[in-house]
Amino acid sequence: MEVSRPQQTLAAPVRFEGVGIHLGQPARIEVLPAPVDSGRLFVSQGQEIPALHERVSSVERCTVLSAGEVSVSTVEHLLAACAGLQLDNLRILVDGPEVPILDGSAMPFVKAFLAAGVVCQERPARRHVLTRPLFVHDKNALVLALPATETQLEYSLHYQHPMITYQQVTHTSTPESFLSGLAPARTYAFMEEVEGLLERGLARGGDLSNALVIRSDGYTSALRFPDEPVRHKCLDLVALGSGSGS
Ligand SMILES: [Zn+2]
Repeated sequence: MEVSRPQQTLAAPVRFEGVGIHLGQPARIEVLPAPVDSGRLFVSQGQEIPALHERVSSVERCTVLSAGEVSVSTVEHLLAACAGLQLDNLRILVDGPEVPILDGSAMPFVKAFLAAGVVCQERPARRHVLTRPLFVHDKNALVLALPATETQLEYSLHYQHPMITYQQVTHTSTPESFLSGLAPARTYAFMEEVEGLLERGLARGGDLSNALVIRSDGYTSALRFPDEPVRHKCLDLVALGSGSGS
């Protein structure tokens, strides 16, 4: 049985600055501590956008949250870091249309959050309990959720590609396993996909420092894990725990 834990927030504000991977524009955010029960809240152009499933307006290549005319793109790696470290209450000020991609993983967020400090708050965290099996599927993707006494994620990846055919990872939902097993895994794309993304106006801020590109005969940079792609997919799945994945 999972032990009930207190809600948590940051001990001090943290800033991130970089480029948005899809639009290629400068991206700045500031993550501030927030009171109990306030949840994770994005603020852009004066508009508050709670990080909740009902605010997801697009999941094409990245997760976009919207309220009215205002949107924030590529929230998933930041939200995975928040969920992975069990940071429940945060106010995230966004300057620009996207969250900075940094190195394409959740690690820069995690390191900065840990450096700032994680503090407990005076109320217990809310627990979501599944009472029956659920599944959703779309095209060739399927998510199956089963009731359990503790949260464990399993991700299986299938491609018809010379470098990846099948990868599978199992993740036990603790901050320690998130830190060592998922947070460093970078977002990835197949070389043959990259030109198509650029033609569609996506991945304009992508380069070899913030994404792993998979060629037919290898990778464009050294792998952080032998099975880094499936670990990144599982990282995106962790973000779902907070309301929002690519
Ligand atoms: Zn991702």
